[in-house]
Amino acid sequence: MSARDDVLIVGGGVIGLASGIALLQAGRSVRVLEAGTAGCGSSHGNCGTITPSHAAPLTAPGTVAKALRWMLMPDAPFRVSPRVDPALWRWMLGFAGHCNRTDWLRAMHARSTILEASRDTFPAWLETLGIDCEFEASGVDYVYRDRADFDGFEDEATQLRALGVAVERIDGPDYLRQEPALREGVVGAIRFPGDARLRPDRYVAGLAQAFRALGGQLVEHCEVHSIEETGDGVRAATSAGAFAGRDLLLATGAWSPLLAKSLRLRVPVQPGKGYSITYSRPAIAPRRPMVLHERSVCVTVWDSGFRLGSTMEFSGYDRSLNRVRLDALERSAREYLIEPVGPVREEEWYGWRPVSVDDVPILGRAPGHRHLWLATGHGMLGVSMSVATGHLMSDLICGRAPRFDPAPYAPARFA
Ligand SMILES: Cc1cc2nc3c(=O)[nH]c(=O)nc-3n(C[C@H](O)[C@H](O)[C@H](O)COP(=O)(O)OP(=O)(O)OC[C@H]3O[C@@H](n4cnc5c(N)ncnc54)[C@H](O)[C@@H]3O)c2cc1C
Repeated sequence: MSARDDVLIVGGGVIGLASGIALLQAGRSVRVLEAGTAGCGSSHGNCGTITPSHAAPLTAPGTVAKALRWMLMPDAPFRVSPRVDPALWRWMLGFAGHCNRTDWLRAMHARSTILEASRDTFPAWLETLGIDCEFEASGVDYVYRDRADFDGFEDEATQLRALGVAVERIDGPDYLRQEPALREGVVGAIRFPGDARLRPDRYVAGLAQAFRALGGQLVEHCEVHSIEETGDGVRAATSAGAFAGRDLLLATGAWSPLLAKSLRLRVPVQPGKGYSITYSRPAIAPRRPMVLHERSVCVTVWDSGFRLGSTMEFSGYDRSLNRVRLDALERSAREYLIEPVGPVREEEWYGWRPVSVDDVPILGRAPGHRHLWLATGHGMLGVSMSVATGHLMSDLICGRAPRFDPAPYAPARFA
């Protein structure tokens, strides 16, 4: 066994690495244990938008009816696969229970706090760590072709404005003048000027490099099989031997419930599978990231490329790359964009978002455990929330006053 670290972190995605960096900055010794390579999970091929605008959770009043309608459509943007999986169905029931206005507003508030804290600190965080990942304070636009859908956003816009999110409404003709990449037929757009974007694979590679440069130990190809709390710390049994730490942070994204089982701990997270296709940059590319609203497809443009990403599919830990879902991305883009794809198709990808049962991240001490901490359940927003999550976990593990109230994220809310 190696010498004991102050903190062992399981999972080398954006959440594990950001937390590791914040802990190193607070003077702790940290080791990250990663089953694959750093950033190989959901942190790799996501859309890279940083979106305080996405404060509203999936657990909205109407989501259940929509999900039932979409159940039989293989290319719907939100889909539950009809399959025998008791854990999935228990989670779905819990999720459905949160789909009411009171919980929606409560979750929106909690998500907004951590999103804003992250967005505010992103530029300084990247600069201090020397990470070049094509970050740009670009804003993000929601683009509409359906009038009722466009007008229907007003309730959410009012709630977002009350939380301090800047929301601008732009009429179709104005928007088409501003954004020549779009086809005719756009009835309007909602702009969130406070949002931003980055290239996620470069971000997570930069986090790994910064973590090592600060003295952190990153052990790749090291799968943690089980975790055991000892009197004064934690031991992890792994494919690369045993490791010990005074504290252990579980940051294994969508895999978190699997590993938590060895501790008899229930972590109500399901993999919400999404897909992306990355291309070289088309000649007529949108000026800023956009969500093609009726199709729930996100379009991100960087100097280095162009990505279409979408879908939220609850199909357990399914590793297949579904052609119907990938084709749906391009089909949707064709409805809105003059050049819907780039000249070279560089990567087709799926990732498992860690979606918690109330769509609020699960951050804090694991109930009934002194040395075990959880940072998971970031759903569609792990990149956006990464910086504030890192700082919060470091504050909590180091016993310092947290920068914002950690209560809404506490794992104890499910105990
Ligand atoms: C299509 C798509 C688009 C998205 N777009 C955005 C976006 O625009 N903006 C945004 O903010 N978020 C976005 N997301 C969500 C974001 O990708 C996730 O919330 C985030 O990556 C979660 O980070 P994580 O570190 O918790 O998980 P992951 O990146 O999945 O990392 C978990 C790590 O744990 C490791 N691991 C698992 N089990 C073990 C074990 N037993 N032992 C050791 N290691 C283990 C895995 O190998 C993995 O590397 C998107 C996701 C998808 C799928």
